Amino acid sequence: MAVELKQALPEGSASLKVLRLLESLKQTETGAIIHQHVTHILADGDTLHSDTEQAYINLLDATLRAYERQLPPHSPLHTHIKLIQLRLTPPLSAAEISGLRRSIEIQDYGSRQTGTGKSTIPKDTLTPLLETFGAPAPAHSEINTPTSTDQEATTPHVEHRVDLAYRQHLDEKRKNMQSIQEMLDEEITQAIRQSEEFRMHLEIELSRLYRAEKMKNLDAARLALVKAARGLLEANRALSTRLDSTHSHLQTVKTDTQQLNEELTRVHLLSLTDDLTGLPNRRAFMRRLEDEVGRVQRYGNPLALAILDLDEFKAVNDKYGHTTGDEVLRCFAVNILSTFRHHDMVARYGGEEFAILLPNTDAEGVMHALKKVQKRTAESHYLYNNIATPMPTFSAGVALYRAGETFTSLIERADTALYRAKNLGRNRFEIDSADNTQNISG
Ligand code: GH3
Ligand code: MG
Ligand code: MG
Repeated sequence: MAVELKQALPEGSASLKVLRLLESLKQTETGAIIHQHVTHILADGDTLHSDTEQAYINLLDATLRAYERQLPPHSPLHTHIKLIQLRLTPPLSAAEISGLRRSIEIQDYGSRQTGTGKSTIPKDTLTPLLETFGAPAPAHSEINTPTSTDQEATTPHVEHRVDLAYRQHLDEKRKNMQSIQEMLDEEITQAIRQSEEFRMHLEIELSRLYRAEKMKNLDAARLALVKAARGLLEANRALSTRLDSTHSHLQTVKTDTQQLNEELTRVHLLSLTDDLTGLPNRRAFMRRLEDEVGRVQRYGNPLALAILDLDEFKAVNDKYGHTTGDEVLRCFAVNILSTFRHHDMVARYGGEEFAILLPNTDAEGVMHALKKVQKRTAESHYLYNNIATPMPTFSAGVALYRAGETFTSLIERADTALYRAKNLGRNRFEIDSADNTQNISG
């Protein structure tokens, strides 16, 4: 339990540093108990701190809303308030994102230990989290773990939900920034229009003054000019205040946009999901592969890797355009690769390449799975100009994990096998020769 609490503390937090300093206490039995107590106290303190922070944020938000309701509709303070509200939901730091993932992993691990077959990622933990990021809460069935073999797949599934939800949250924020920028744009346009009206007004009065021939007319024109100039001065003062506040809003927007863009770049780098297909991306795949290889090294069960590459895909883009190409990739990912079992990991490995990790699967099992996918591909079509067009075929390279090898070597062997499948004419599967002399071409 102490270990789990410690893992739940964010990397780089002061509490974690204190615990590391006290690590040597664990060498004695009494020391270990003291260490455990300190861990609890620090974890409670951290929770209390974030609860208090959230309470203040909520209070401030409510106060701002109430204040905004009192403002006249076109007051520039609306913009100001929106900017402050945006700052109340700052982006998560990298440490917070990884802390979030870790705590989910720990809870999931806990559920497996209890052997209940149900994930103890309780709805009440996940729901506020997802809702904070603006995503709908998962239905309970989505966070259940139906069978023991499916348990492996649960953590990445939840991870992807959090990942997606957080990106949606940032996207929403970016949209808000955009709308504020539009409001400011509108204010500037109005100010320019107003200034143009003043200029015209002044020109009219001036030309009247020029044209005044009689003294009486001259006097009347002078009075009108003074009146116009006074009005102009007043309006000009108001305009300059407005421009000043618009300018300072623009500065804030500029800083916030820059911060948001940096966050989006970082989230993109940390992201585990491929935008186009919604599948786990290469980064997520590498993480899982590393985990699986570690597990296989400990328990010795079989593990297969297949790399699939669509055949002559460049021709699809060339003939029908990139947008159709994207649609084909999405369709292949969603409708065809879903043939793999739930606990196989299907990822977008690169452009038109997909990697599939099949735990507890031998050569025969992979061949069987790939044949099913091949059959489904042959039966599938995509629409181009409302005409059903056959899906492109794919080639695959397969490698089976060999005791002691690194995951890089496993990937290289699958890649070599894929290369052979391409050279042998495409629309076929090859297994790495080190695994099997028998050809498994489909
Ligand atoms: P091969 O059978 O040898 O694999 O031929 P290929 O044409 O599939 O392979 P090649 O490597 O020559 O071309 C891959 C093409 O995939 C080129 C690239 O533009 C396209 N591609 C990669 N990623 C995407 C993507 O996200 N969307 C679209 N539409 N096309 C992509
Ligand atoms: Mg390729
Ligand atoms: Mg290809």
